[in-house]
Amino acid sequence: MSELFKRTNMCGTLRAADAGKDVVLNGWVDRQRSLGGLIFVNLRDRTGITQIAFDENTPEDVFQLAETLRGEYCVGVKGTVRERSSKNPDLPTGDIEVAAKELVLYSKSETPPIYVKDDDQVDENLRLKYRYLDLRKLKMQQNLMFRHKVTKLARDYFDEQGFNEIETPMLVRSTPEGARDYLVPSRVNQGMFYALPQSPQLFKQLLMVGGCDRYFQIVKCFRDEDLRADRQPEFTQIDLEMSFVDMDDILAIQEGFLKRLFHELKGVEIETPLRRITWQEAMDRYGSDKPDTRFGFELHDLSDLDVIKGSEFAVFQNALAAGGSVRGICVTGGSPVYSRKKIDKLTEETKKFGVKGLVWIRVEEGGEYKSSVGKFFDAEALSKIAAEFEAKPGDLILIAADKNKVVWDSLGFLRRHIADQMGLLDPNQFNLLWVTEFPMFEQDEETGDIKAMHHPFTHPMNEDIPLLDTDPMKARADAYDIVLNGVEMGGGSIRIHEDDLQQKIFDILGITKEESRIKFGFLLDAFKYGAPPHGGLAYGLDRMVMLLTGSKSIRDVMAFPKNQNAQCVLSDAPNIVDPAQLDELGIKLESGEDL
Ligand code: ASP
Repeated sequence: MSELFKRTNMCGTLRAADAGKDVVLNGWVDRQRSLGGLIFVNLRDRTGITQIAFDENTPEDVFQLAETLRGEYCVGVKGTVRERSSKNPDLPTGDIEVAAKELVLYSKSETPPIYVKDDDQVDENLRLKYRYLDLRKLKMQQNLMFRHKVTKLARDYFDEQGFNEIETPMLVRSTPEGARDYLVPSRVNQGMFYALPQSPQLFKQLLMVGGCDRYFQIVKCFRDEDLRADRQPEFTQIDLEMSFVDMDDILAIQEGFLKRLFHELKGVEIETPLRRITWQEAMDRYGSDKPDTRFGFELHDLSDLDVIKGSEFAVFQNALAAGGSVRGICVTGGSPVYSRKKIDKLTEETKKFGVKGLVWIRVEEGGEYKSSVGKFFDAEALSKIAAEFEAKPGDLILIAADKNKVVWDSLGFLRRHIADQMGLLDPNQFNLLWVTEFPMFEQDEETGDIKAMHHPFTHPMNEDIPLLDTDPMKARADAYDIVLNGVEMGGGSIRIHEDDLQQKIFDILGITKEESRIKFGFLLDAFKYGAPPHGGLAYGLDRMVMLLTGSKSIRDVMAFPKNQNAQCVLSDAPNIVDPAQLDELGIKLESGEDL
């Protein structure tokens, strides 16, 4: 085995003040340039790159070895730091280089299948297949180190606040949290299955009954969902639960955490208490329960305007007659940006939210109006609509009419999409806010079933408890989400700790007594033995780190993520298993013969 050079410094840390020092560096060859009597090697480790120089003063054998170095060879170097004659302002270590005296080759590398270079445009599956090379990229290293800092800060902060990190089991019984479970067959209990936890929700509530006041955990959760850009089958939560608290107590503790997180890791001062906005206000003003407040374009409800109510435009009339609404946004300065063709494109993109079309009104430079519904609305009517938005020349008004949900979703999408296209999403602005007073229930659009909006253990707002008997769809929950720049970073609620109230919620959700006994009888039983009032929340750690590092995908802040087909292309999981393993589990595959 080659001699190990004991490292004195990391490659990204040397500066002009280190000139004259003897150092030992270990790392990978980022680049080797041979210029006849001179060889430069950029040596990389997770902290950065240092230039190593081999020249006429380098011992002959060292120089010869340096000539053989290629990209991703793993080496150690001993040498002396000296100031560079031509400095490289693009590198933090660009003022210096290390004049090599000794060199050890730990191992060679085949030609790497991907470049170890940030933002190379290579196919992501290839990056994931060779993740160990991909991870050598400085950006990936920085993301993982940042992630570590977030979890360390979380552990320190919550520890100071009296929280204990307690592990909850990974092999659990299936819990109803909206997504499909990953199932694990039991060998010793044949025909039976564990589920991997979608979250530690029930166990953290049991911890509260167990007197473990102030629990937290940085924990893997598993959800078998169809994958979208920011979802992974396994992901990490910072999960918390507290006893004897109300929502204000919980939010105040979280605000302390967020303040410290932004201060220490981003150098950004967050003003607390954070803004709170009710779900209703978020929908009415932003068309979203995770509003991005970095820009305007707020929604206006036009349904009550006489010119709208009295119009002969069938789309508006039909929407209103069906109990829906007519709402719009005003894109300040949007008229010159969006040609007719571009508006058609926006309309097409918005159709996936169920809306059939968009109405537009332009305010021309001279103050006159142009509109897609000019046939139905004269100048006076258009000016009345424009006045609702205080629209000025150059502005573009976009209007949708349909069921409320369709209108909200469409305009909510449009306002952010347009802001993005107009370059209004400032990545250095961090708008954090709480969304509160969510509805307890929502109706599944396909099945018509009533579902819990957060989860079935969420406490209704006390003043809305009577509504559970009369008009449950109007009842609001003691639930809250933390939203950063239009992305839900976490959420939680005050929980039900009264078994009769819990039963009532199950009734509304159509979960029979028998079903609830079978599914979570253990929780209901626990509530019979002095359950404390409690509540908590969970942050999506991956999303949090993605947002704070400005990464495009949560896959860029996870060491070994799955691809869009829920596969680990590096280790080839999932995969078939030995038929003997299935036999032991008592499992027969329908396609068993083919294995
Ligand atoms: N268990 C919830 C979730 O995973 C969070 C919470 O209510 O604490 O979304």
